[in-house]
Amino acid sequence: MTQFKFQLGTKVFFGKDCMLSNKSEIIKLGKRAFIVTGKASGKKSGALNDIVEILEAAGIEYTVFDNVENNPSLENVKEGGNAAAGFKADFIIGIGGGSPLDASKAIAVLATNDIDPIKLIKLEFSNKPLPIIAIPTTAGTGSEVTAASIMTVKDLQTKMSFVHEDVFPKVAFIDAKYTQSMSYEIAVSTAVDALSHAIEGYLNKTATVMSDFYALETLRVFRNCINSLIENKLDYDARERLLYASMLAGMTIAQTGTTIAHGMGYSLTYFKGIQHGKANGLLLTEYLKYNVDVAKEKVQNVLSALNLKNIDEFGAVMGKLIQNDKEFSEDELKFYASLAIKQRSTLKNLRTVTEEDMYVILKKSLV
Ligand code: NAP
Ligand code: FE
Repeated sequence: MTQFKFQLGTKVFFGKDCMLSNKSEIIKLGKRAFIVTGKASGKKSGALNDIVEILEAAGIEYTVFDNVENNPSLENVKEGGNAAAGFKADFIIGIGGGSPLDASKAIAVLATNDIDPIKLIKLEFSNKPLPIIAIPTTAGTGSEVTAASIMTVKDLQTKMSFVHEDVFPKVAFIDAKYTQSMSYEIAVSTAVDALSHAIEGYLNKTATVMSDFYALETLRVFRNCINSLIENKLDYDARERLLYASMLAGMTIAQTGTTIAHGMGYSLTYFKGIQHGKANGLLLTEYLKYNVDVAKEKVQNVLSALNLKNIDEFGAVMGKLIQNDKEFSEDELKFYASLAIKQRSTLKNLRTVTEEDMYVILKKSLV
């Protein structure tokens, strides 16, 4: 048997009302809670209301930072870190999609380390971050069970991540009642993000037997969501299955990280404002075609787990879920390839990638 490392750092509670039935997990983290969320996600999902009731009943002081941007920037998380330090928070509660959850991790570090936020990316901090509770309101990033935080770095015109085991959320409350309010568009985009995590975690140089186990199980769960997604029949059960798939995919990338679909997708988000999951999804079919030469069996396993015959059938499903409505020039795509090749995750792709390869994948996917 091969050697592997496997690490998950989060106590997971999954299912309806799991937070209300496990309030003691929150109360034991301290007397002052700093809540991190977006303008709408906390309120619309109902999670903010639930947490506020729990905190008030327990006599825990709290403040709400609801200023998290989509794809949060370094400046944005620094603002949150300063506010959390000023409030003398004992712990952080992140509520939202990947943006607020990732911001929570950065804020947890910045609350105890008064540093320039670019140092997060270089892991240049020494004090232990505050403990984090994560409550997802989208079903895609799996950030509630990962130690990764992805931020927009305006100086470099891209997104970059930091991964540190101390920012694994201590507790995740994963409850599909909080994802019901997501629009269809966000539900599809975030679902496709989970799909790309499973695939990129599986077709990954750092994949292990354990991460493969989580990746393939994600795909098998996702298979039973495809029709509901295409037909826009996202009832409670379908949304719960998607949330479960997203969690499993998060547990996969907590071991492996992502690869080039994410690395190239960042530019589509940064320059064209395309939602994160959709950005990856637009590239996934060509990404599979690119990797199949070096990973025939693994690509076939992906397709079989999804109950699809071949990559063309995969492409047809993706085409029903997401469509490109932006224009891209040759120069833009060349520039995106030049940025993506510098992403650390590029080295993890099963097939060794060149900048020219990335340009070709982008062109075939988008033009
Ligand atoms: P998001 O940026 O967190 O949210 C997208 C939109 O959906 C926002 O407008 C948000 O509102 C809204 N929304 C969220 N939940 C809602 C709900 N229940 N009801 C109504 N509206 C809701 O999207 P995301 O795709 O979940 O996260 C993307 C971010 O996660 C990216 O920055 C990406 O790089 C990162 N990511 C991280 C990991 C990881 O391992 N850490 C993995 C993949 C992606 P608000 O603006 O009010 O919040
Ligand atoms: Fe992602």
